[in-house]
Amino acid sequence: DAALIWFRRDLRVADQPTFLAAGQGTPALALFVLDPRLLGPAGDARLWFLYGCLRDLDESLGGRLLVVKGDPVEVVPRVAEQVGAGTVHVAADFGPYGQARDNDVEQALAKADRELVRTGSPYAVAPGRVLSGDGGRYRVFTPFSRAWADHGWRAPADTDAGYLDWIDPATVHVRSTKIPDQPAVDADLPEPGEAAAHRRWDEFVRDHLQEYADGRDRPDQPGTSRMSVYLKYGCVHPRSLLADIAAKRSNGAQSFRNELAWRDFYADVLDQRPDSARHNYDRAFDALATDSGPEADRLFDAWREGRTGYPVVDAGMRQLLAEGWMHNRVRMITASFLVKDLHLPWWWGARHFMGRLVDGDLASNQHGWQWVAGSGTDAAPYFRVFNPVLQGERFDPDGAYVRKYVPELADVPGKAAHQPWKLPGGVPAGYPDRVVDHKDERAVALDRYEAVKEAK
Ligand code: FAD
Repeated sequence: DAALIWFRRDLRVADQPTFLAAGQGTPALALFVLDPRLLGPAGDARLWFLYGCLRDLDESLGGRLLVVKGDPVEVVPRVAEQVGAGTVHVAADFGPYGQARDNDVEQALAKADRELVRTGSPYAVAPGRVLSGDGGRYRVFTPFSRAWADHGWRAPADTDAGYLDWIDPATVHVRSTKIPDQPAVDADLPEPGEAAAHRRWDEFVRDHLQEYADGRDRPDQPGTSRMSVYLKYGCVHPRSLLADIAAKRSNGAQSFRNELAWRDFYADVLDQRPDSARHNYDRAFDALATDSGPEADRLFDAWREGRTGYPVVDAGMRQLLAEGWMHNRVRMITASFLVKDLHLPWWWGARHFMGRLVDGDLASNQHGWQWVAGSGTDAAPYFRVFNPVLQGERFDPDGAYVRKYVPELADVPGKAAHQPWKLPGGVPAGYPDRVVDHKDERAVALDRYEAVKEAK
């Protein structure tokens, strides 16, 4: 009996539990469905990366990846029928759309006595598996992360491309398409694919893991792993990363495991509360006053373009445009600026991030934003308003990050780059004046948050 391997967010051949589930040597067809519902909102950076990953996967499979455009609920049963596959193997998807889609596909397959088999997930521990003593789900990160570490994860699956006997897609009668050309993007994006993921990971472990606990907060240094995009598309599974560093007890290794726990936590929270992708997790914050209208639109444009006059904010927003990625510390600073200095709804910013980030992930992004906005699970206390100058001086002490992304400030030495308005000659030509006064807007934000808190 043939099997169908339906790839989604697991674009790799190593550590592939779906291959184990299909059984070694089984004749199998490899399928990827180009689903317009997912491709639409993805943004060119993510499409560029995705298509690159598909090409890499196709090469690993000896050119045997079948790519079909359409709604998976129609495509998957049709392809299964064509190859006579009794089982369709996937890694479980826990996003709101993915879960609903998989349930529909499962029902459609069942009509022809075929089975959708879910094996594994994109997470070290799948949503719903980390439970408290009384069997409930966690809403707070720290106890979750302890229970997550106690729960543990499986060893990586020992698979490679030769594990299954790949069916030649040319022998299958369905309307297929070639892997789309990568769209032209005006950004310097990471190399797609499984081998690139492992190269980057090895480099990180060799050069940066030891210092990661402190290094991770410095946007001016290359101290983070940059694995987010590879994890997003499953070029590598978090379990493989955890296994690689299992024996390491350094602060760096502990800290790295903790960050992977955040990724699993947010996926768990989104699974518990799918509505939190679009709404405040804490609905009391629906009452928070936010601005709208032409002035709000103008400020939003300045933020998106990196022209707020606050250097670390502008450097971050321009890094996002230039690389489809932004350093975590600066994601927090720029998000705080949008919400607390510009008084705009967090989902405006979240949408912009999702359109530009190559690692854009619904669970991590929407909850990262809500952490900053104060409406999420482990929200930063509402009175914490990031001061963009102090944050810049602390985490980019020599101003190197600002100078790298804001060429108008390239000649401003040292940490003076964080306050160009204090330069003897004033703000350098071409760089904007501050669009708002942080001190004033902080007070406005605190009043508005206070009002929500009192109404609670
Ligand atoms: P590293 O520091 O090397 O971390 C290792 C891995 O741990 C990351 O690859 C990621 O998978 C995970 N991780 C680290 N920090 C977090 C976190 N705070 N939440 C969840 N997982 C984390 N991450 C995304 O993957 N996609 C997003 O769309 C996204 N949007 C964000 C939006 C905001 C406003 C904020 C504050 C954070 C967001 N993050 C998002 C989390 C974090 O910023 C990125 O995961 C990280 O910057 C990716 O770079 P890295 O791989 O070098 O991180």
